Amino acid sequence: MEPSRLRNVGIVAHIDAGKTTVSERILFYTGVEHRMGEVHDGNATMDWMEEERERGITITSAATTCPWREHEIQLIDTPGHVDFTVEVGRCLRVLDGAVVVLDGVAGVQAQTETVLRQAAQYAIPKLVLVNKMDRPGANFHAAVDSLAKVMEGTAVLTQLPIGSGEEFEGVVDLLRMKEIRWHGDGTEFIESEVSPPLEAAANLARDALCSRVAEVVDELADDYLENGTLGEPELRQGLRQAVLANQLVPVLAGAALKNLGIQPLLDAILDWLPSPLDRMGVEGLDPKTGKMVKRDPLPQAPFSALCFKVFHERYGDLTFVRVYSGTLEEGQMVYVPRLEKKERVQRLMRMHADSRVVLPSIGPGGIVAVSGLKFAQTGDTLCDPSNPIALEGLDFPEPVIRMTVEPQEPGDREKLHQALAVFDREDPTFWVDLEDEAGNAVIAGMGELHLEVAMHRLEREFGVKPRIGAPQVSWREFVAGPKKSQGRAEIRLDSQTHWVSVVVEMSPMAEVGSRPQLILALADGQNEISQELWRQCQQNFGPCGALGFPLSGVEIRLISWSEGVEGQANSADLLQGALYQAVSAAVSEGCRLVEPLMALEVEVPADYLSGVLADLSVRRAEVGYVDALAGKLSARVSLERMFAYSTDLRSLSQGRGTFSMKPDGYRVVAKGREAELRAQLGGG
Ligand code: GDP
Ligand code: MG
Repeated sequence: MEPSRLRNVGIVAHIDAGKTTVSERILFYTGVEHRMGEVHDGNATMDWMEEERERGITITSAATTCPWREHEIQLIDTPGHVDFTVEVGRCLRVLDGAVVVLDGVAGVQAQTETVLRQAAQYAIPKLVLVNKMDRPGANFHAAVDSLAKVMEGTAVLTQLPIGSGEEFEGVVDLLRMKEIRWHGDGTEFIESEVSPPLEAAANLARDALCSRVAEVVDELADDYLENGTLGEPELRQGLRQAVLANQLVPVLAGAALKNLGIQPLLDAILDWLPSPLDRMGVEGLDPKTGKMVKRDPLPQAPFSALCFKVFHERYGDLTFVRVYSGTLEEGQMVYVPRLEKKERVQRLMRMHADSRVVLPSIGPGGIVAVSGLKFAQTGDTLCDPSNPIALEGLDFPEPVIRMTVEPQEPGDREKLHQALAVFDREDPTFWVDLEDEAGNAVIAGMGELHLEVAMHRLEREFGVKPRIGAPQVSWREFVAGPKKSQGRAEIRLDSQTHWVSVVVEMSPMAEVGSRPQLILALADGQNEISQELWRQCQQNFGPCGALGFPLSGVEIRLISWSEGVEGQANSADLLQGALYQAVSAAVSEGCRLVEPLMALEVEVPADYLSGVLADLSVRRAEVGYVDALAGKLSARVSLERMFAYSTDLRSLSQGRGTFSMKPDGYRVVAKGREAELRAQLGGG
């Protein structure tokens, strides 16, 4: 398929807004699925825990191709783990456009805001579907008003709903000025001229649309001034241009559950959202020269692609890649700049509901699963070995919770390690440390549930029964004020001692919890450092504080260093290790503890709400919003106070409450609590 006929889109929404329902209806109306799927119960973690069949669905849904009006829509979805924002983040990176689904009653909700903020980071053009227009109390205009703040006035109506609540029966298309009404299972709809009762509102809304488009698209300003309106072709072209430039966001209405509004949504995806060509090329670093280089989305350009997901399968891993430039062929050697390694792509596969179609090659904008890659991981660039480029990778949050794991059967140790290696590779937010000589492992993840899910898979997919330790907070450390410090490290080999000594300056970064930065800031006349050595030092950089927790939110500037060998010649390998240790030694003093915070959302029948709130105040949670009628609330709370919350919530709500929780930044631990922890953890 020509790149101009591709649309790589994702659906993003607050939980329960109807993301899964909308996706399923899209698969149905584009003929990918022949039967309307059952809606999941919305429990975000279920997909991960189910049997192999379920896992198959999850793999397929990473990217599904849906044909529509001689175009291909690649629907990139991760149903199930919407709670794990990282999933959304990594998908946004490979998307060209996004469909934001809102609940027509609730409007913009907490997660919608989070996702929109992420989408803004990647400048992704969007459109909005106000879903659930059939619900009692649905209010299209109120939902649009709730967009005003998060979209800074870029939202424009391209449809009006016909009726709402039980009376919702269709939409007015403001571009063509037609009414669309649905019948039966929604496959059929009838289009007609706008009828008199809707005419006045539709004319007003179309005028508003024209005037907004003329405002942002300069070329149309004169036309609009002269005629007081815009013709359909001009309006279309102008609106598309404005959406691609992120100046306008079209808003549509629908009710996925009732099969209303899906076909116009598919049309809107083709009409307004970008093809890979519209997104221009990509930029990246030439790993040899360190210079920015650009790749055009053309089939004959040098090949470049980004890996955005890895799944382990019995016969090897499946890696999902998005091609940005050039063409990837079956059996091709690709280069992975991060690893400075080449490896071979075996097959290219496109995922369909219950089959995989093997493709001989794939061009710019294409998204495929490839087999055969052993080393490339999520976030890695694949490129033409003779035209290397490193695209901007993906940024993953660090795990906040850790626990030890060992096999119940001592003979299963090897299997356990293999399984953990698989999780480590599949999921960048799942960390594995093989700690002690006994081979006990420490695993770290984004929450209790995240680790629980992994332990479940351990048993089910790998047949290893784990024995796990109590979950613990993954503390961080940082340096509260600017300071200078020295470090020295020695490495002995045979009769030689190689030493390195460094002076570093440290200062806290603006955001608590951000990844530590190691910056080369050698003063004039200081010992120079080779590029290669510095690169290695940075690659391995992950210093710990005084208590042995990872350092975070600190900028470390290396201002001078020296080295020497007592004995004979030195080796670059030794130097690298020692330099790194010396920097670590320099930073490990005078640190403060930092703790992870969690964003919590709870839903309980309204009667239990006050009990849940009282309990949260004991946990010192900062409560965000409370919707007493719907029995919903959000809060921000220290992870340390939230262990085993699922059990506690169950007893607080007689088993009727549900919650979701995800990491949401860090905060410096209060002095009193820090002293307690130091005593407990045995640090100075
Ligand atoms: P997700 O969490 O965003 O994936 O939302 P789901 O698609 O799982 O939907 C959540 C709940 O809302 C389910 O019970 C759906 O049946 C229901 N739902 C989805 N779309 C609509 C709609 O258009 N109208 C109504 N009334 N309910 C809907
Ligand atoms: Mg869902």
